[in-house]
Amino acid sequence: MSRIDLRSDTVTRPTPAMRRAMADAEVGDDVWGDDPTVARLQAVAAERLGFEAALFFPSGTQSNLAATLTHCGRGDEVLLGARSHMFLHEGGGAAALGSVPCHPLENQPDGSLRAEDVEAAVKPDDVHCPRTRLLAQENTLDGKVVPQALLEAACQAARRHRLATHLDGARLFNAAAKTGRPPAELLAPFDSVSVCLSKGLGAPVGSLLLGTKALVREAHRWRKVLGGGLRQVGLLAAAGLYALEHHVARLADDHENARALGEALLGTPGLEVEPVQTNMVWLRVAPALRARFVERLAAEGVLASGQARVRLVTHLDVSHADVLRAAEVIRRVATAG
Ligand SMILES: *Cc1c(COP(=O)(O)O)cnc(C)c1O
Repeated sequence: MSRIDLRSDTVTRPTPAMRRAMADAEVGDDVWGDDPTVARLQAVAAERLGFEAALFFPSGTQSNLAATLTHCGRGDEVLLGARSHMFLHEGGGAAALGSVPCHPLENQPDGSLRAEDVEAAVKPDDVHCPRTRLLAQENTLDGKVVPQALLEAACQAARRHRLATHLDGARLFNAAAKTGRPPAELLAPFDSVSVCLSKGLGAPVGSLLLGTKALVREAHRWRKVLGGGLRQVGLLAAAGLYALEHHVARLADDHENARALGEALLGTPGLEVEPVQTNMVWLRVAPALRARFVERLAAEGVLASGQARVRLVTHLDVSHADVLRAAEVIRRVATAG
């Protein structure tokens, strides 16, 4: 029995067709600006997402950090969500490496930041205070599409105080698939955006930072400083191009599989299924069941992550039959108590 890996949409392996595109890629030394496949990926992404320029990064963490360092100088401050990836899951890089403090704002249940909270957190021009310089938002957040009007309202509040605006759009294509709106429309309110190629899009590596030419030029400097200048990286950019061409439309399948998985788990004793929007199913696990739940699922070939709130993520390497089988296993383990 093969295992079904629902820990994350990062676990996908490149498909045979993607590997062929990688093997066939034309390459050059990208630190010298010589890699035609990287250049093409950046041009295609910028055009498709509605920005002047794009820059290929080895990871979303590095892309978000380079954006932060581009917007903020030493002692400048970023406002961001207390549940955001940039605040919780990037090693405190802005502070650790950039001397940029973070002021976390409460994420509302729908993932949004309140415009009033943004305004209230902007510090006065006073020697006691950091200079508030950047607002960073995230979409999707925990698999939820943040309402576009609220993302925009927070951006407007930021602009009233001359802050720059960044979006961590690691799973932006999932938000676009869910809402049916073009990615460029969802990204229009932001000065800079980071999107991942290595999540639902199924590339082995890679994120893109998008912005004006001037912003991308500065971020390019920071990428080099952070050790992200890569050489014949067209091999990886080819996977990203392949993903943009062939794996965007199919995100709807992941969403349908997550919906079906959530539905199949409704009514399971000890599990409360949160409403499913995109490619994530969140289960609130009863205290009595928590301790070894994920371990017991793993023993049955279903990999998940979390404890009190368990996360199941659908992706390219998970079929409809897989999610039905996973649901059966999860129900059985939960029912056994
Ligand atoms: C995955 C992810 C990132 C970037 O992660 P890397 O593993 O560094 O590529 C950033 N933000 C969010 C919301 C993510 O899910």
